[in-house]
Amino acid sequence: MATHKTRMLIIGSGPAGLSAAIYGARAGMEPIVVQGLQPGGQLTITTDVENYPGFRDVIQGPWLMQEMEAQAVHVGTRMMWDTIVEVALSSGSPFRAFGDGGDIYEGDTLVIATGAQAKWLGVGGEQELGGKGVSACATCDGFFYRGKKVVVIGGGNTAVEEALYLTNHSPDVTVIHRRDSFRAEKILQDRLFAHPAVKVVWNSQVDHFVGDPASGGLTGVAVSDTVTGEKSVIPADGAFVAIGHAPATELFNGKLELDANGYIVVEPGTPKTAIPGVFACGDVMDHTYRQAVTAAGTGCMAALDAERFFATLEFSRVKEAAGV
Ligand SMILES: Cc1cc2nc3c(=O)[nH]c(=O)nc-3n(C[C@H](O)[C@H](O)[C@H](O)COP(=O)(O)OP(=O)(O)OC[C@H]3O[C@@H](n4cnc5c(N)ncnc54)[C@H](O)[C@@H]3O)c2cc1C
Repeated sequence: MATHKTRMLIIGSGPAGLSAAIYGARAGMEPIVVQGLQPGGQLTITTDVENYPGFRDVIQGPWLMQEMEAQAVHVGTRMMWDTIVEVALSSGSPFRAFGDGGDIYEGDTLVIATGAQAKWLGVGGEQELGGKGVSACATCDGFFYRGKKVVVIGGGNTAVEEALYLTNHSPDVTVIHRRDSFRAEKILQDRLFAHPAVKVVWNSQVDHFVGDPASGGLTGVAVSDTVTGEKSVIPADGAFVAIGHAPATELFNGKLELDANGYIVVEPGTPKTAIPGVFACGDVMDHTYRQAVTAAGTGCMAALDAERFFATLEFSRVKEAAGV
């Protein structure tokens, strides 16, 4: 058991945490990144990434994250194989975080970059066909289904937005919903119902995904009618599970303000939480954009604000030591 002290403690090693680390290290903050159970974050569970700026050719998500980590380490970041199980924020800076194995991390500033996880249906074929036809992000993967037949599963705002987004690429978008009406905002529903490329299959529950990961991937989605019990397979080249996301904020429950969906609330347009010196970036505070590039952007903002906070803190410490 050891205590690790730093000017900038970062929880999470996805694009947000590692971008914060790169900026923090280059500002002399000697950051520590605690990586958590998914080193590299969500992009490590995908394959092709075609929308991260700077790469003309398709790159692989895990490779991109290895490069980000290598860059963060190269400029002076310390990476820790640990998971934070508790934080102490109420007495202000320095903030303390407690690792799974008993280590303590103490940061003059704290950057929270714990991300979010897409919610999955948990049915057969979903995992096996993940990245081979089954996805949870139309903005990320919709482009790969240009001119093809796709389905979206869900009935809230996310599902309707994903379906509308997919009409940019696909002439044949089917929304599968287990009820007979959507929860999505009316204005979104109106746009969806008016779109000629979209049809809705109501009262249908997904039983499993159909296809072979080794030969061509997804071919369809097996559903049961929740009223009649009738079973059928809806042919599809791509299936987008859009039943929401779960931000990783259990640690901060009762310690920071969370919104109704569990995302950390920040001052609009900034990564600042209500506690001076504590910043949140990436998917853990952003339920709207949820992209690697936006996570990296807010990670940069968090590091810049953390550095400014630290500079003010240092100045008051120097004044106090000098008795001014
Ligand atoms: C299948 C899939 C494909 C995607 N494709 C694309 C794409 O093509 N382009 C794109 O721009 N975006 C894509 N995204 C979205 C993108 O991955 C996310 O927007 C981005 O990863 C968010 O970054 P983040 O750093 O905020 O969080 P995450 O990537 O979620 O990282 C969170 C980090 O926090 C750590 N953590 C969590 N809890 C703790 C804890 N208690 N202690 C320590 N560490 C903790 C985790 O281990 C992880 O390292 C995709 C997402 C998925 C799921």
